[in-house]
Amino acid sequence: MYMKTRTDTIENALHTLFKKRLRIEYPLREITSIHIGGPAHYIVMAQHEHELLEAVRLARAYRMPYVVIGEASNIIAEDIGFNGLVIQNRIADCTIDKSTHSITVGAGYNLLALIKRINAIGLAGMERMAGIPGTIGGAIYGCAGAYGQEIKDCLHHVQIYDGRTVRWLTRDACMFRYRSSIFKKKKNWIILAATFTYTHAHPAALKKISRDTIRLREKKYPRGMRCPGSFFKNLVIKMISPASLRDEFMKKIPPEKITFGKLASGYLLEEAGAMGLAEHDIAVAAYHGNLIYNKGNGTAHDLARLVKRLKHRVQKKFGIELSEEVQYI
Ligand SMILES: Cc1cc2nc3c(=O)[nH]c(=O)nc-3n(C[C@H](O)[C@H](O)[C@H](O)COP(=O)(O)OP(=O)(O)OC[C@H]3O[C@@H](n4cnc5c(N)ncnc54)[C@H](O)[C@@H]3O)c2cc1C
Repeated sequence: MYMKTRTDTIENALHTLFKKRLRIEYPLREITSIHIGGPAHYIVMAQHEHELLEAVRLARAYRMPYVVIGEASNIIAEDIGFNGLVIQNRIADCTIDKSTHSITVGAGYNLLALIKRINAIGLAGMERMAGIPGTIGGAIYGCAGAYGQEIKDCLHHVQIYDGRTVRWLTRDACMFRYRSSIFKKKKNWIILAATFTYTHAHPAALKKISRDTIRLREKKYPRGMRCPGSFFKNLVIKMISPASLRDEFMKKIPPEKITFGKLASGYLLEEAGAMGLAEHDIAVAAYHGNLIYNKGNGTAHDLARLVKRLKHRVQKKFGIELSEEVQYI
């Protein structure tokens, strides 16, 4: 806990800046898609770049831990909450340059809202990502993707705050890999905006693809399901090291299970008997091994126990350790 005098002062400053967009001791379970997490000491909703940067400056000045998040669709928070400042990025400026088919968009812009907007004007390249929850910033952080498209595909530049200055990074500098980017290493870098350049297609065709994709996704993720999407990352076979471990592992995997060099962690979990396992209200879906959800009153403690059991089962059967796609705060 922070000394009252210090919190009073930062609280006053945050209140002046954010007014009703400041919440105190707010339960994170109210905002995480898996509905887990105790209170955040402070949560603010930053709608403009200067607000976000000022919130960061204040947290640093008062030596208070802080984290920038999007819509919390890929976040697991602790039951004790977050004893610091949570900054929800809601910077949602958007400029469209029709002549170059490019868009500059704030990192707090909702991904689906952007897809709908660009579909309507015939800009192609994100239509198959329709239905991935969250913001542009969250998608860039985790190199989100689905059905053969990834956020990096049309990305040109990313505007960041690196702790000292605001600057632009090229796509190459973001070091995108499968569900990974430089932002997972540079934890103090904040994504502020991004520019994308698209190809052209007929709006009606793009809208249909997005509609069909959402319909397909709703079979796996029924509306209202409390979950963070896929819990574990799929395995990129060539990244398994050392080579001796990879060779041993591959002896246990039917070749047809490998697609585009990847193996679904859901397959490993299902073979290891994960489906339907539960710790109180936290359960593995009965129809998908890599889908962990909260039936209602699940806690981070229950989740940690279940994750430990699942990893242990996969390790025992396949000699490989799964790693999480979700992010812990
Ligand atoms: C039902 C469901 C289905 C899903 N399906 C998919 C899928 O098909 N493909 C896929 O890739 N993902 C999927 N996800 C996971 C999730 O939607 C994505 O990871 C999404 O991109 C996260 O965006 P967000 O804004 O919610 O980020 P958050 O969950 O809020 O944050 C995720 C991480 O990004 C960091 N972060 C967020 N914004 C910033 C910023 N501006 N600057 C710096 N760091 C930042 C946070 O600190 C955190 O570490 C799914 C999730 C759900 C709930």
